[in-house]
Amino acid sequence: EGSLACVGLGMMLGAHIGPRARNYIEQADVVFAAVSDALVELWLQDMHGDVRSLQPFYAEGKSRHDTYREMVEAMMVEVRAGRRVCGAFYGHPGVFAQVPHHAVGQARSEGFLAHMEPGVSAEDCLYADLGIDPGRVGCAHFEASQFMFYQRRIDPSAYLVLWQIGLAGDRSLRRYSTDAQHRALLVDLLAQDYPRDHEVIIYEAATLPITSPRMERLPLSGLVEATLHLQSTLVIPPAMAMQPNQAMLDRIARLDAHRV
Ligand code: SAM
Repeated sequence: EGSLACVGLGMMLGAHIGPRARNYIEQADVVFAAVSDALVELWLQDMHGDVRSLQPFYAEGKSRHDTYREMVEAMMVEVRAGRRVCGAFYGHPGVFAQVPHHAVGQARSEGFLAHMEPGVSAEDCLYADLGIDPGRVGCAHFEASQFMFYQRRIDPSAYLVLWQIGLAGDRSLRRYSTDAQHRALLVDLLAQDYPRDHEVIIYEAATLPITSPRMERLPLSGLVEATLHLQSTLVIPPAMAMQPNQAMLDRIARLDAHRV
């Protein structure tokens, strides 16, 4: 009976993988890999003899929708053939990643057992490296392009994290970077809620034990000319204090007064 497990490898090679994820990899008949780095793929090959890269499905000029559909299908072909399939994804397989969610959903809809095993995501690393507790004043996460294409309510008293900042403004889903002019539009959008000199952070978690994370602080306006990569995440610290919700506090006070 075929089955599917989508597991997370964590961000740092060899350092973040959990025993359950490792077990799913070792027990699988075939492993599909979507990882950030060729070294990580080599490391996976040490754990299993049949590791197939999902990387070749990506191509400049090809829609990522097609890429993702083909990746899901490649895994499903093996599941339908009755094999235990493991999809190994860097970070957390369910965080800002469509393929593992779609694959698990597809497998279940066809009656197969499917499981997602969490991993250490870029989000987890950024909290540790930047010393941010998302519970202190709150923290909102958006995909950068989606943040531009749709009307969102921004709360400048909380942290704002924008993923895929290197692709900000790409409507084609075919590019692997966008240019300064697209970023200038994003800065204009953010400038409606933040001063242009507000300090933001470009964050890149270390993916090898021998490297250090990138934690580059710069003014919001500097984002236009900044060097951004596919693995860059933008962190915008709060620009103002939380404002008390006096109306709600009054209602609670009235409620409590009736209780005594
Ligand atoms: N599933 C992944 C995870 O758990 O972190 C995220 C995959 S998402 C398709 C890719 C985005 O994740 C990047 O554009 C970036 O925002 C973030 N990301 C990936 N690698 C990163 C790294 N080394 N440091 C910081 N952010 C990273």
